[in-house]
Amino acid sequence: MRLAAKLILIFLVAVVLLTAANTYVAIEGQNASFEREQTEYAQRVGQSIESELLLTWDQQGDAAVDALLLGEHSSNQLVQIRFISLETEAPGEKQPVASPESLSHVARGQIVSVMVNGQEGAAWLHTYYPVISSDKGRAALEFSRPAGELQQQNRWAIYRAMATIVVLAIVGVGLVMYAGVTLVGRPLDRLIEKTQRIAAGDFADPLAIAGNGELSQLARALNDMCEQLTQHQETIRQESATRIATLEQLRHADRLKTVGRLAAGIAHELGTPLNVVAGRAGLIAAGKLSETETRESAKTIKAEANRITLIVRQLLDFARQSRPQRADENVSLLTDRTISLLQPLAEKKGVAITADDAERIVASIDSSQIQQVLTNIIMNAIQATPDGGQIAISIQRKTRRSPEQTEGDVADYVRIDVQDNGSGIDEQTREQLFEPFFTTKDVGEGTGLGLSIAFGIVQEHGGWIDVASQPGDGACFSIYLPIQPTAVETTHAR
Ligand code: ADP
Repeated sequence: MRLAAKLILIFLVAVVLLTAANTYVAIEGQNASFEREQTEYAQRVGQSIESELLLTWDQQGDAAVDALLLGEHSSNQLVQIRFISLETEAPGEKQPVASPESLSHVARGQIVSVMVNGQEGAAWLHTYYPVISSDKGRAALEFSRPAGELQQQNRWAIYRAMATIVVLAIVGVGLVMYAGVTLVGRPLDRLIEKTQRIAAGDFADPLAIAGNGELSQLARALNDMCEQLTQHQETIRQESATRIATLEQLRHADRLKTVGRLAAGIAHELGTPLNVVAGRAGLIAAGKLSETETRESAKTIKAEANRITLIVRQLLDFARQSRPQRADENVSLLTDRTISLLQPLAEKKGVAITADDAERIVASIDSSQIQQVLTNIIMNAIQATPDGGQIAISIQRKTRRSPEQTEGDVADYVRIDVQDNGSGIDEQTREQLFEPFFTTKDVGEGTGLGLSIAFGIVQEHGGWIDVASQPGDGACFSIYLPIQPTAVETTHAR
């Protein structure tokens, strides 16, 4: 229900209650004064004739008393007086109009008034003045006055009250409606519209509500709030812009650092074999080498050239990192294929590879890219594991969120664990593990590109790589790949 309607309802109820209470009090007052008037009259008349009446009654009987009353008061038309008996065995014409129960106090000497409805519906007020004779018994003077006029007055009072209610309702409802709509309804509608605009983020156009009442105060408070919100919004916008600019600078610095490292790595990685090639080529060109030495030098040049080719190929792989060409692939079979490729190398090193790939999980992946990831990681494990060591590979399905997600839907991933019992990885190495050209291996053994390539490929697939390791206690690389391309992947790919 709208506020104006509620106000009108409250007003109407108040008008009805107040008018009804006022009318009730007025009617009660009229009744009381009517009764008081008659009681006083009965007392006055009763006291003035009581002794004479008792004497007459005791000496001459009831008929003489009636005659006495007739003679004394016949002129009074308004109030009729009767001498009645309070004894139960009295004849009918001597019985009181009021019921004997209501007259018990009269027998004890009190004046009592009783309103009785007559036969035609008209009410009469009967007042009883006690007359007690030790000889004749208990009797009373019955003063009867018609109360029709009083009832008429009461009826008028009720009609007046009803008319007042109707007039007040019409005038009041009109006034309340006018005041409710102009003073409350319209300003409230504007306040509601303003709060809706605030909720939608529009803090413009301050609200003007005239006056100094609560609603105009509320409007002013809303305007102040909007001003503060606008200021906060501006502060946040400026802070965000500063943060974005700082982030951009950091990214730029980071890119420069990476490029620097990359250049240093390339220079170092290619410099060494190129020096060897140049040195050996110089010796051959000088013509001072024997035939065997020349052949040996040529072999060294070929080996170093191969190494340069490998580095350049890996560099190309790293730089290319194209979007995966996905197809449904059985990850267990792919892992098995990769293991059999690397098996001879592992055997040569005296390392056993076991695979727990009972669960056949099919995922949408670029099989050649993921094979490269597996090769790089398993190769590292073989290199880190001493003779007699073991590498355990297991494949499981995992339903979870990515490490970057704190909320949102979970997704299905295939997790490939490559666990070795080799040298393990210390904290410092772990921080640089995926950086290009970071290697702890001797020159010629590692290029430092394997894990950064693996990291890039897995990220392009929408997955990630976890590393768990304690120095001296082996390392476990866990590759997470989404079974289906996910929204996460798109985020990563960007
Ligand atoms: P590379 O193998 O050519 O050195 P990677 O990027 O593949 O380059 O590896 C970087 C470094 O990470 C390695 O030099 C090695 O120190 C460390 N590493 C990688 N895998 C393992 C492993 N399974 N155990 C111990 N160290 C490892």
